[in-house]
Amino acid sequence: AVALEGRGASLVAGGYAAAPWASAQLVVVSPGVAPFAELDRVAARGVEVISELELGYRSVAPTLTVAIGGTNGKSTTTSLVAAMCERAGFATFAGGNLGTPLCEAIGKRWDRLVLEVSSYQAERIPTFAPRVAALLNVTDDHLDRYSGFAAYAAAKGNMFVQQTDEDVAVVPFGDVVCAREAARGSARVVTFGVGGDVGPSGDSIVDRMRGARFPLASLRIAGAHNVANACAAIACAAEASVPESAIAEALAAFEGLAHRTALVGEVAGVRYYDDSKGTNVGAAVAALTGLDEARAVLIAGGRDKLGDYAPLVSALRARGRALVVLGEAAPRIEAAARGVVETSRASSMADAVRRAHALALPGDAVLLSPACSSFDMFRDYKQRGEAFVAEVRALTAEAT
Ligand code: ADP
Repeated sequence: AVALEGRGASLVAGGYAAAPWASAQLVVVSPGVAPFAELDRVAARGVEVISELELGYRSVAPTLTVAIGGTNGKSTTTSLVAAMCERAGFATFAGGNLGTPLCEAIGKRWDRLVLEVSSYQAERIPTFAPRVAALLNVTDDHLDRYSGFAAYAAAKGNMFVQQTDEDVAVVPFGDVVCAREAARGSARVVTFGVGGDVGPSGDSIVDRMRGARFPLASLRIAGAHNVANACAAIACAAEASVPESAIAEALAAFEGLAHRTALVGEVAGVRYYDDSKGTNVGAAVAALTGLDEARAVLIAGGRDKLGDYAPLVSALRARGRALVVLGEAAPRIEAAARGVVETSRASSMADAVRRAHALALPGDAVLLSPACSSFDMFRDYKQRGEAFVAEVRALTAEAT
């Protein structure tokens, strides 16, 4: 704040009422701020109200931009695409929702901008027109901020609207919701995943548009959902003129991000996976059904996002050995899974890992993929994942 004030800005803290709305010429809204009445009022007066992403984009355009959205897989796919661009020798800015805000890219020269775009960031982006925009999936999340699924999906689709026929929209093959969002703009559509333009086939991921093959065995990230992320990343990078060799090298080198289906230990023939970033039902379903192990003890729960747990219960029926619940959402998840798998309620992460250990059979996995946010018991998903990892380490130490 002091640095800003030295440059002629004034800081008004303590609520929106005190802000000088009447003299505003431009309002830039941080993605964390939910819509409120004052914003609509200034917008009605003809004052532009835009997002931080839009402000950054206006300042760095026309750099070739790849935008990646979706309920799940954004960070993984964005990191992969950025790594591919870097391998190709492009000066690459990787950011957006992934750590560094786009405004921090201003003032430097970039060959490629690779941006993770959340639904919040995709509100109020009237000129944002990425060369390549990928929407990985849309499942229930953030329904506290949106009036419903359709409004949430529409926010995610905003990044397609300004695209022209020189641009590319990357969507999952056969996904009606994502295809409908992509059709709000004029981009050429490229599909990924099973059956798509870039999809798994036999022992490889095949880019059918360019005839390129990338061996699945070279991937170091686990799970079918990560194969989908890799397919999307290949499509994005290829459309951003990354050569095949750079794509292949980056794919083979990428070890995945922490707390995303990360293998963190093995005790008595049971593998432990930290998927603490699985903060909604869709993520937990993908993590559970994507595991190599046939059955898993799932540790789930946290702050309830009040979505429907039915998809998780179906996944548990198919792949669950048992369920350990914790946190505020424990009673709802337990009630939803009643009669489907053995369920046990834990009082802490340490207790949860111990219970999971007792319930797992050799050859099973234990998967922390909470389907909920962490804020009831932890600072964030990282701290929750670290608590899990610490407990797995303690178990390993006892076992050896
Ligand atoms: P995001 O940035 O969208 O939260 P991440 O790459 O951080 O995505 O992954 C978050 C979680 O989402 C992972 O831990 C995993 O549970 C799940 N996930 C990752 N990729 C996918 C996908 N393609 N489809 C469904 N779920 C996924």
